[in-house]
Amino acid sequence: MSDCLFCRIVKKEIPASVIYEDDRVLVFNDINPQAPLHALVIPKRHIASLNELSAGDDGIVGEMVRRAAAIAGDKGYADRGFRTVFNTNAEAGQTVFHIHLHVLAGRGLAWPPG
Ligand code: AMP
Ligand code: ZN
Repeated sequence: MSDCLFCRIVKKEIPASVIYEDDRVLVFNDINPQAPLHALVIPKRHIASLNELSAGDDGIVGEMVRRAAAIAGDKGYADRGFRTVFNTNAEAGQTVFHIHLHVLAGRGLAWPPG
């Protein structure tokens, strides 16, 4: 998707503060952080939202979740706690239509979310 912001970050057409990268997954710091750690875990392959997932995507989604936990652990938040969030469509606040798992940590996070 040439007009997708996160596909452009994957292709290095737009800079990002990259924390982790492999063949399938990219992790970078959110440009507008809502906590001391606010990273986004994305698949390199374009998937617009969770509504577009198929059974063939189970592997990549599992990798994203496992990577999110690894990033939180690397930053020292495994015991204190961290939050992982997928927003889907308008009422949940999805603004970028390439799935991304938010990883937030480093402050008390209210529940329920706003
Ligand atoms: P969502 O609202 O769940 O779709 O989340 C999109 C996230 O992408 C927001 O937290 C934005 O701050 C973040 N974001 C938007 N543009 C960039 C960018 N160029 N680099 C890093 N994060 C971005
Ligand atoms: Zn994309």
